[in-house]
Amino acid sequence: MGFKILLARERGMCAGVERAIRTVEEALKAYGPGKIWVLHEIVHNRHVVEDLRSQGVSFADSLDEVPDGAVLIFSAHGVSLEVEEQARSRDFKVIDATCPVVSAIHRKLNRAGAQGLAAVVIGHQGHQEVIGTVGQYQGDSGRVHVILTPEDVEKLSLGAGDKIFVTQTTLSVDETAETVKALRARYPEIEGPRKDNTCRATQLRQDAVKDLASQCDLVIIAGSRNSSNSRRLMEVAQKGGARSVLIDDESEIDQNWLADVEAVGVSAGASAPEYVVQGILKRLLEYGGHEVIETGSKDSERKFPVPEVK
Ligand code: SF4
Repeated sequence: MGFKILLARERGMCAGVERAIRTVEEALKAYGPGKIWVLHEIVHNRHVVEDLRSQGVSFADSLDEVPDGAVLIFSAHGVSLEVEEQARSRDFKVIDATCPVVSAIHRKLNRAGAQGLAAVVIGHQGHQEVIGTVGQYQGDSGRVHVILTPEDVEKLSLGAGDKIFVTQTTLSVDETAETVKALRARYPEIEGPRKDNTCRATQLRQDAVKDLASQCDLVIIAGSRNSSNSRRLMEVAQKGGARSVLIDDESEIDQNWLADVEAVGVSAGASAPEYVVQGILKRLLEYGGHEVIETGSKDSERKFPVPEVK
């Protein structure tokens, strides 16, 4: 009896998240505890944020909370032009830990605004990354539109003239496919994202979870509830026909979930640390798992250099 555990090789922290966390760690080394402030959560993971907080890093929801003289770090999700300008006008040492993939999208929106092109952002209204991306459009903000579904495309009225679209990085190419199709059907001239404006890490993690779902009764995703990419992984598993849960760590595992299962899949969102995954595997082995089998291949992901902190 018992169950086997399938562990996705393609899981957990991506290059952008690792870079953001390393940026805060380097800043801590350079400036010491008590001086570092991060605007918003550096990445959407409770363990990462609590760990950095315990080392003397502060997190703020707005610039008003940050004292003069602070070292201010922008999170991996990026910020709007307005926030950038406000921050640089204050007495802060600003360090930008925005993921380079997100920064490339920012530059695209920036240029579109400067050229007066209409822009469409496919993503979740209100997500920090989307707020930052929309806020990177220079000029009339009425020319940037946030949509998510093919139905939203029907409601757009972009008029004649050039236009572009980009997608939120926590959505995979698969997820946005229907919306992109509807957008291109309605506006054949619209210019889509280049390869460097989409996130390969997101796609690879979703593909791996789809594979797990086809082989498992239950798929456990390590990640925080406010992590968009982790929630997407849970949804991908559910769409693939498996039960799926999103948990911060092993303390949330309910033994009842494991009654009558033959195979349990495990993966982790792009902001979840590997030690959380290992904690989950250990608990599953205690609860009747008899082996851990790593599945799928591991892509050699890009590495992003940490920005200068001094
Ligand atoms: S998921 Fe992609 S865009 Fe987001 S931080 Fe990671 S590498 Fe960057």
